[in-house]
Amino acid sequence: MTRRMRTVTARGHAKVNLHLGVGALRPDGYHDLVSVFQSLNLSDTVTLELAPDTDRVSEGTIVSGLSVTGMDAASVPTDDTNLAWRAVDKLVDHYRGHHDLEEAQRVHISIHKGIPTAGGMAGGSADAAAALVAAHALLSERLPALTSATLLEMAADLGSDVPFTLQGGTMLGTGRGEQLTPMLSRGTYHWALVFFKEGLSTPVVFRELDDMREQGTAPGPRMETEVLSKALLSGNPREVAGALHNDLEVPARHLRPDVEAMRRAGLDAGALMGMVSGSGPTVAFLCESELHARDVLDDLLADGAYSGTVAHGPAKGAHLIS
Ligand code: ATP
Repeated sequence: MTRRMRTVTARGHAKVNLHLGVGALRPDGYHDLVSVFQSLNLSDTVTLELAPDTDRVSEGTIVSGLSVTGMDAASVPTDDTNLAWRAVDKLVDHYRGHHDLEEAQRVHISIHKGIPTAGGMAGGSADAAAALVAAHALLSERLPALTSATLLEMAADLGSDVPFTLQGGTMLGTGRGEQLTPMLSRGTYHWALVFFKEGLSTPVVFRELDDMREQGTAPGPRMETEVLSKALLSGNPREVAGALHNDLEVPARHLRPDVEAMRRAGLDAGALMGMVSGSGPTVAFLCESELHARDVLDDLLADGAYSGTVAHGPAKGAHLIS
């Protein structure tokens, strides 16, 4: 008889930026951001499978391997550059440094992707947040649980969007996007999301914005979010549609003209508003209802050239599912 290995699975959610204002390039290489995040029910799962009890390590990585299935699986790294792998190592290092963790059982990581890769929807960050939650569940069985503040600090070290994907909901992000304040938001917002076969690299889009601003071909930073805050309180998607803004849209459209063609097609199909999600190229269309989002999506995917899905938000942060 084969013994089933112990597994823990956590879910990490995608995000859209309802507002993304990009300020100056800072000396540390990041840009000052003002971002309003909304988490979506579109998600990845991260499963940690414990090796047999005798397979333990006292230093270095505890990850024995990583496999990926689902959307864009082939473009996701399966080595220690994967954000989920880095998240597990980071948590273990913390326990080694602060809580006398001498030996840890090795784990295999399996990621199932529902979030497009390099699509501007924080897929890698969602996996990092889910991996933190799953690894924390395992380690805190026998060692002290960490505070959410400590987990958030680790998340920020892993990447600017990881703290938000850990928390979920609707949040204002400042600094490089990692300093979060919850925002009041009423209602559920329905989106039609169109994915592109080829992703866009986030640093390349930021660099394009800097270059275009230097040449005077992209507008300056838009950092105020007051109109959007009021619209979110109304719970009316039409009001929110009128307040959506993304400073990265101009450079993303410049790098990928097909993005703008898709945005126009979505507006023609009746979406309330369409915009690039984060650094793109995913285009997110805000709609009146789930039915409306399905109609818009059916229209946009009719010729088979693109893939996509409907999604709604706000959703949860990363959480255990088994
Ligand atoms: P963001 O919206 O946070 O800017 P994104 O959604 O555009 O990011 P990701 O899907 O997070 O982009 O992937 C960006 C790059 O990160 C990928 O091209 C890949 O090389 C790397 N990566 C590392 N870990 C992962 C992961 N678990 N899933 C997807 N990509 C990952």
